[in-house]
Amino acid sequence: MMSNMSFLSYMIRQFDEAAQAIGLSHDLCDVLRKPERTVTVSLPCRMDNGELRVFTGYRVQHNSARGPYKGGIRYHPDVTLEEVTALAMLMTWKCAVVDIPFGGAKGGIRCDPKGMSQAELERLTRRYTMAIANIIGPYLDIPAPDIYTDAQIMAWIMDTYSKIKGELAPAVVTGKPIALGGSEGRNEATGMGVAIITREVSKYLGKPLKGAKVVIQGFGNVGYMSAKLLQDMGCRIIAVSDSKGGIYSNEQLHVEKVLENKKMTGSVVNYGKAKNITNEELLELECDFLIPAAIENVITAKNADNIKASAIIEAANGPITPEADRILFEKGILVVPDILASAGGVTVSYFEWVQNLTRTKWSVEEVMANLERKMIKAFDEVLRSAKEYEVSARQAAITVAIKRVAEAVKALGNWP
Ligand code: GLU
Repeated sequence: MMSNMSFLSYMIRQFDEAAQAIGLSHDLCDVLRKPERTVTVSLPCRMDNGELRVFTGYRVQHNSARGPYKGGIRYHPDVTLEEVTALAMLMTWKCAVVDIPFGGAKGGIRCDPKGMSQAELERLTRRYTMAIANIIGPYLDIPAPDIYTDAQIMAWIMDTYSKIKGELAPAVVTGKPIALGGSEGRNEATGMGVAIITREVSKYLGKPLKGAKVVIQGFGNVGYMSAKLLQDMGCRIIAVSDSKGGIYSNEQLHVEKVLENKKMTGSVVNYGKAKNITNEELLELECDFLIPAAIENVITAKNADNIKASAIIEAANGPITPEADRILFEKGILVVPDILASAGGVTVSYFEWVQNLTRTKWSVEEVMANLERKMIKAFDEVLRSAKEYEVSARQAAITVAIKRVAEAVKALGNWP
């Protein structure tokens, strides 16, 4: 997909600009611009109708100087190697911004999971795990859910990996079912992180959270959880959407009922008295907080000028192009970047991994309190640095991240 090619070049450009701003050496730039390892696998999979289909899967490991590679696996028809490579780099920065001891990786299978049965998904997942079993592991690379993957898929990965290695290895994946060593709060974590950041933004801007108008693009795990938690905090969710379209109400939507409608009909659209709108219209609605929680490259130079939100909280990875970012910065719209705003998921993944390795179990209160502490600390650090150097929150966040990773790469030295 052409836009994914540009997504990777955006990522590299973003890195180059930040690296230049902090005077990173040429050597370090060269090391960090490229992933450490890229794996492409062919996955023959027997479909329910007897047909054999060969899918393509990827795992890209960007950097491991600060700890084992970490990052989700997505199942999507548009997955490409370029996209996964860009997202792997983004994971390195994300883990560094919230200061958890992981590097960055990403995986994906080019497939249409919505058109597959559970049995087909299980066979494909186990085949993929077999193909990458030698490059993942509790101290090597720890996958997690991402777009259209969930706790059940993590359970199949864990089981396949454990059987191949001949020992139980719960710490090889995070985002597992709680029964298998998953953490309390992991399912809500990314949405909770988004809600915490939105609350901090409202304090920062001096805008009350209660009654604030919130627009959310995407109604998957992250979009739905963010909507639900922000509604609980007193926000008015005035519009949401999924890949089929969106709905808008000038009062507010009842998030749980919207979910019921989506479960029943397969989409959020055609809900009660709410007005059906397109995803494009949704992004341009007047609101306090706009939360893109779907896919990359949705706010571009074409629509950035029409954005009427006071702040954007990036719950998705890479929803704003660099050109759009510049326009929004000039318009004075605060953008909390993906590597900070969507870091709640990987932060609780880290807590899950720690619980697995230490054979302990934290309460949901413990998980949430630790998540909140980490998110607030990262938000304060980034916003302080943005103010000090008069740059956007994105530039500040990536700078904080690159400095941390570069320091680790330098300390490790170059061997052999
Ligand atoms: N897929 C999520 C992300 O993009 C979570 C990754 C993880 O927990 O490792 O941040």
